Amino acid sequence: MNRFAKLGGVLGIVYCIAGFVLVFLGWNGAATYDNESSQIPYLISGGVAGLALVVVGGALIVAHSLRNDRVELRGAIDDLRGAVEQLGTASAAPAASGSGAPGRIAGTGNVDGDVVMAGADSYHSPSCTLIEAQTDVAPMSLADAQASDRVPCRVCTPGVSE
Ligand SMILES: [Zn+2]
Repeated sequence: MNRFAKLGGVLGIVYCIAGFVLVFLGWNGAATYDNESSQIPYLISGGVAGLALVVVGGALIVAHSLRNDRVELRGAIDDLRGAVEQLGTASAAPAASGSGAPGRIAGTGNVDGDVVMAGADSYHSPSCTLIEAQTDVAPMSLADAQASDRVPCRVCTPGVSE
């Protein structure tokens, strides 16, 4: 399929070139004759056939590029769809954990145990939505985090239920 499409483009270019050559030859042939009546067959045979080839070649190129555009467009749409889906799951995840967070805090305690995710100056529950996008957080025991200068996150309030 892809190979065929490529062939179509090459064929179109070849047709165009052949057409131009025919037009040129027809023109040249016509120019070698002085009187108009003997020019006409050359112009008709070379010119018309050449023009026909150029038109066919042009159509092949257009069809080929259209097909390419369609493939590219489909790829772009797939990329876009993937990005949208990723965005959808990314925005759905905080909403889900956001609605779950109050329940976890009010409930029987932090299910994540004593491990927290520590940033430069604060520490979070491992499931905190605020650190989802952060890469500079590292696992740390709650006791270590509390002993350090870090402050507990006000959103996920790690260790509050302890
Ligand atoms: Zn947090």
